[in-house]
Amino acid sequence: MIIVLRREATKADADRILGLIEGAGLKPLYMPGSERTVLGALGDERVLGKLHLESDPHVESVKAILAPYKLVSREMQPADTLVDLGGGVVVGGQRVVVIAGPCAVEGREQLFETCRAVQAAGARAFRGGAYKPRTSPYSFQGLELEGLRLLEEVSRELAAPAITEVVEVADVDAVEAHASAFQVGARNMQNFRLLRRLGQSRKPVILKRGMAAKAEDLLLAAEYILAEGNGNVILCERGIKTFETATRNTLDLNAVPWLKAKSHLPVVVDPSHGTGVRDLVAPMAKAALACGADGLLIEVHRDPACAWSDGFQSLYPQQFARLMGELRVLVEALGRSL
Ligand code: PEP
Ligand code: MN
Repeated sequence: MIIVLRREATKADADRILGLIEGAGLKPLYMPGSERTVLGALGDERVLGKLHLESDPHVESVKAILAPYKLVSREMQPADTLVDLGGGVVVGGQRVVVIAGPCAVEGREQLFETCRAVQAAGARAFRGGAYKPRTSPYSFQGLELEGLRLLEEVSRELAAPAITEVVEVADVDAVEAHASAFQVGARNMQNFRLLRRLGQSRKPVILKRGMAAKAEDLLLAAEYILAEGNGNVILCERGIKTFETATRNTLDLNAVPWLKAKSHLPVVVDPSHGTGVRDLVAPMAKAALACGADGLLIEVHRDPACAWSDGFQSLYPQQFARLMGELRVLVEALGRSL
């Protein structure tokens, strides 16, 4: 429920109404704005009816949020959320953010060489998996703690944030200690215990859409994180399973403007996993920005032929540099910058 206060309502009026909401067993939210203060009440809305807030002299309107997601919805917060990855790299504003790096951290030289190359081309944050959720148990599973240490080192030395996937609750503290932001992978989008735990952190979370999840499911997964108090969530479209087999996944770009319309959270797109085909990454990266994405997550490897994971979809550093040049022209036409 959204309760819009009258223009002349004071902080004391807001506090009194927040007290009523809390007393009714609902979660109160205080959202002061430049024009008006908006209050929220989360929980069983039938209880709220008994408070008759619509007849309170300081209340202008009371409106139910019809969508199943609440905190992530634009109805609750009309203004875009900006998520700071650290070092002034903000996702969600006018400036588009490109996060690039290898699928997995394989060693110091591989990571540093790749990160130096993507940074020189204009990437402002790094990616690299230390814990890899692999389809086969015999595939490379990641360097784990050693990978986290290398990510922290590259982040410090090159002065750019580094994001990495956290696959289970037991690893949250370690990832939090070393990385600038958490990535929740497609396979874990509905690991609700993990989402709740990340909600207790204040570090940004890049939440990837599950490969069999609806865009609405992604918003409800994000709601778990916000409901625990962490508002620093970035949504990521990374492709879904369809009957199409020509590509690894089908990158659902419809979801980008849909998510932007329904939610105030920033949206980034991962065309690497979204296509699974190196030569399709650049065209779909451009398409993603054209339809309103706030950023991109792109796999680049110094030597894709020798990559321990996802080499087939990783860009060569020169390919990435060419793409960044093309994106610079595109974003200008879109009224944004890179
Ligand atoms: C990744 O980013 O390397 C990854 C495993 O992504 P996803 O969870 O989208 O498959
Ligand atoms: Mn990958």
